[in-house]
Amino acid sequence: MNFLHSGSLTILIVDDNPNNLEVLSETLIRNGLQVAVATDGISAIEQITYCSPNLILLDVMMPEIDGFETCKLLKDNSLTRDIPVIFMTALADIESKIKGLSLGAVDYITKPFQYEEVVARVRVHLEMQFLTRQVLEQALEMKRINQELLRLNQELERLVNLDGLTGIANRRRFDEYLEKNWERAMREGQELSLILCDIDYFKLYNDCYGHQSGDSCLQKVATAINSSLYNPIYLVARYGGEEFAIVLPNVTSENARQIAEEIRLNVERLQIPHHRSEVGSWVTLSLGVSSQFFTNQDTSFQSLLTAADKALYTAKMKGRNACSYLSTGS
Ligand code: GH3
Ligand code: MG
Ligand code: MG
Repeated sequence: MNFLHSGSLTILIVDDNPNNLEVLSETLIRNGLQVAVATDGISAIEQITYCSPNLILLDVMMPEIDGFETCKLLKDNSLTRDIPVIFMTALADIESKIKGLSLGAVDYITKPFQYEEVVARVRVHLEMQFLTRQVLEQALEMKRINQELLRLNQELERLVNLDGLTGIANRRRFDEYLEKNWERAMREGQELSLILCDIDYFKLYNDCYGHQSGDSCLQKVATAINSSLYNPIYLVARYGGEEFAIVLPNVTSENARQIAEEIRLNVERLQIPHHRSEVGSWVTLSLGVSSQFFTNQDTSFQSLLTAADKALYTAKMKGRNACSYLSTGS
């Protein structure tokens, strides 16, 4: 593999025999590797901090701390744990081999060396280390990409449900929420209320103040409606151009009418000037309220919408800036 000839890979050789050090060093350098040497375990550990070896050839029989002890120290330290260690020893007995491998060494070479074998083993372990790092880096990158995808999906999910102009829920979210709560109310025998709101004389507002002011008016009205709702399970959505809809799960018809009246007042209190309105000086809302109490199950959420729409029509007919109520089936 050509990365072996890049000249940037360093092997630390630890051996108390200067002759071994010399011959091994020459062999590895001839094969395109950089070499650092140490003659005992302690100085080997000290060396590692500044030579950052890619692999360690470690003699077993050394004075003071032996190769096994040195290996144990290396594997106990998170900074040196991942550097592959190959033991070198004259001990050919099986127990020493097992002990070395169980301490975390990747391989074992017995003396006297076959230098081609040493180079071949070093090469294999360097390649394995290189490939393992690559796999780990790719796994980390995959994890990062997956997290980013998850975040983007959540963001997409959020945007798919939002109205771009007003920042409140859109029609899609409203339909979904109404149906879900309709089914829940049926299951649990609860009441479900709905309010439809429509800005009065909004076409004239646009004609008078321009489309941009119309947009800004829609934003203010949406905010005012939203801040009139004190329970997070109530959902306000932009239902159409200048129409808003509010789903009120588990809210009685009486409470729904109170909420509608509060919304009407809150929008009027914004005092957004509307000189062309035929019902006052400010922007106002007409509201239709409907409720369904689930005693029989032979209905669809469409009936709730139809009733709210009819009630809204009545509010318009009554003169606008008003709330009107109709129960389903009426
Ligand atoms: P009514 O009191 O009967 O509800 O009369 P209206 O003028 O409010 O109702 P109409 O349905 O005749 O007109 C609705 C207007 O809302 C027309 C349309 O240009 C305007 N509109 C709808 N969507 C938007 C929008 O996103 N921005 C702006 N600026 N205007 C919009
Ligand atoms: Mg309308
Ligand atoms: Mg209108």
